[in-house]
Amino acid sequence: MTEQRPLTDTATVRPVPTLPDAQTVTEVQHYTDRLFRFRVTRPQSLRFRSGEFVMIGLMGDPDPATGRQKPLLRAYSIASPSWDDELEFYSIKVPDGPLTSRLQHIEEGDQIILRPKPVGTLVHDALLPGKRLWLFATGTGFAPFASIIRDPETYERFDEIIVTHTCREVAELTYSREMIEGLRQDELMQELLGDGLDKLRYYPTTTREESPKMGRITTLLESGEVQSDLGLPPLDPAVDRAMVCGSLEFNHDIKALLEGAGLHEGANSEPAEFVIEKAFVG
Ligand SMILES: Cc1cc2nc3c(=O)[nH]c(=O)nc-3n(C[C@H](O)[C@H](O)[C@H](O)COP(=O)(O)OP(=O)(O)OC[C@H]3O[C@@H](n4cnc5c(N)ncnc54)[C@H](O)[C@@H]3O)c2cc1C
Repeated sequence: MTEQRPLTDTATVRPVPTLPDAQTVTEVQHYTDRLFRFRVTRPQSLRFRSGEFVMIGLMGDPDPATGRQKPLLRAYSIASPSWDDELEFYSIKVPDGPLTSRLQHIEEGDQIILRPKPVGTLVHDALLPGKRLWLFATGTGFAPFASIIRDPETYERFDEIIVTHTCREVAELTYSREMIEGLRQDELMQELLGDGLDKLRYYPTTTREESPKMGRITTLLESGEVQSDLGLPPLDPAVDRAMVCGSLEFNHDIKALLEGAGLHEGANSEPAEFVIEKAFVG
């Protein structure tokens, strides 16, 4: 005999409230007490260019006066490439940060808000054709480059891609190191990376903790150490292109260095030899 269930009165059943522009978390991985990565479902209609950013967030606390909640949104680079079925983000955890003090606790199955309006200047369209692409990152500034280096178009456009990633401590390099190791082992990528897999080069440095290469990338570029380590000539506006993503100070210093070498800053509307974007405001 089949079990008798009470009939549901559909008129009284309300849909579970969901966030506006809600996407579901599919994976979370923590690297340090300051860094984590997570993946979410991708809105079907979302088209973006590798390197762009979107606004993401959570519902804010209720307003004490009205009880109403407003979305708490922040800019985030999409770390996954444009072909991926899901979206990946690489995030800081700011202990008192309005968003990340809460975002760091998300788990698989939770929802976040994602405004599907991608923008940004760290895109191929904003660079003139060249031979060598430098991706200069500090901290979470690697996020847009995690998208760029997983995009086959990058390897079609350039003969050589050099990723420099500078962090204070060695553990803060884990995300970029594991990704580059993974790409070198990926059968589909091996074809793009060439015989010696040397089309994608990785130059990690630390500023505080002891590691094989220590120092700020600007200092290492100025002294010529980067070029001698990698066996490359000095920066040349005829062949070198660069994307820069880091702190305000870092961006300022590297911009001066690139301009000193004769490279000009480009934009979507006017492509040139390098492009730059802040990894955060502060
Ligand atoms: C174009 C753009 C793209 C961004 N992409 C990313 C991204 O991919 N991943 C990411 O983690 N953040 C990214 N940010 C920063 C992000 O928007 C938030 O600032 C960050 O998530 C912290 O939010 P919060 O509300 O917790 O603290 P906020 O009030 O936003 O920040 C508090 C303070 O924390 C520091 N801070 C904020 N973000 C960072 C960071 N990423 N690294 C180091 N210190 C930081 C600053 O000193 C800031 O004043 C981006 C910012 C911009 C402008």
